[in-house]
Amino acid sequence: MNQTLRELVCAMPKAELHMHIEGSLEPELMFEMAERNGIRLPYASVDELRRAYAFTDLQSFLDIYYAGASVLQTERDFYDMTRAYLERAHADNVRHTEIFFDPQTHTARGIPMGVVIDGIHRALQDAQREWGMTAALILCFLRHLSEEEAFATLEQALPFRDRFIGVGLDSSERGHPPEKFARVFARCRELGLHLVAHAGEEGPPEYIRTALDVLHVERIDHGVRCLEDAELTRRVAKEGIALTVCPLSNVKLRVFDQIHDHNMLELLDAGLAATVNSDDPAYFGGYVNDNFVALFDSLPLTREHAQRLARNSFAASFLDEATRERYLKEVDTFFASA
Ligand SMILES: [Zn+2]
Repeated sequence: MNQTLRELVCAMPKAELHMHIEGSLEPELMFEMAERNGIRLPYASVDELRRAYAFTDLQSFLDIYYAGASVLQTERDFYDMTRAYLERAHADNVRHTEIFFDPQTHTARGIPMGVVIDGIHRALQDAQREWGMTAALILCFLRHLSEEEAFATLEQALPFRDRFIGVGLDSSERGHPPEKFARVFARCRELGLHLVAHAGEEGPPEYIRTALDVLHVERIDHGVRCLEDAELTRRVAKEGIALTVCPLSNVKLRVFDQIHDHNMLELLDAGLAATVNSDDPAYFGGYVNDNFVALFDSLPLTREHAQRLARNSFAASFLDEATRERYLKEVDTFFASA
């Protein structure tokens, strides 16, 4: 990739729509929190922990991810973790971010819902005040747990309804199809929450179809396996359903063998509203600009693709119309003068 294109994708204004806040916890901060909270990690050092990040699939990642989240105890911990992510996102010219969080990972350890939400929320407010960055929270249900547990989590979160805009579905995809959560998503829909779900990462294209038809989601997280089903691909393109794609994550978790094999170009060529995101940046080797650079380094993507990806990221956001239009205009102004 030429230097100009690299600079362009890094400097362009963008939104991030698929980032799990617990997955942004860097080993250094994890050790710092473990120490101040008196928690013993099953790793002797930051280096040993980083070496353990040799994942073979989604489950091998999730095992380490849940162990790492155990250091999060206080509102300050949730604030510090979120603040660290927002600083990196700001440096990557992220103007707007919609952040996933996994309350069940914390409430199961006895951490109150309010501690989790308040810590994250305060960091989002500071980013808005200091940098004008807009941000919103999406509560994710862990799909390896039951729908009853998802309902209980929703109940616990409702006193904080004004602090999150939607719900999602994450964790182990295989064997846990979207329809397992049909009733709780129907309830969230009644409550006026936005709906998204991970589908078609490791799981089959059929999960994308049921996420749309049974859960009525507005965006598909990942969705890269969509292309295995031509009819589904045409439908997702026609309905303008966005896919929040995470290239470095896909390689780390062996959805693709290497970044050169990634299907981003095919997704765009098929007319799909794909976006670029970092998923769990502390674990997968980089933040959103690292994902853009890796993709543009490895695939024959152009300046036009860059503009389209930046536009897609804001167009697929849950921002109000006026703010979304303002950001889209900012993208076009950037490309007109870059
Ligand atoms: Zn994810």
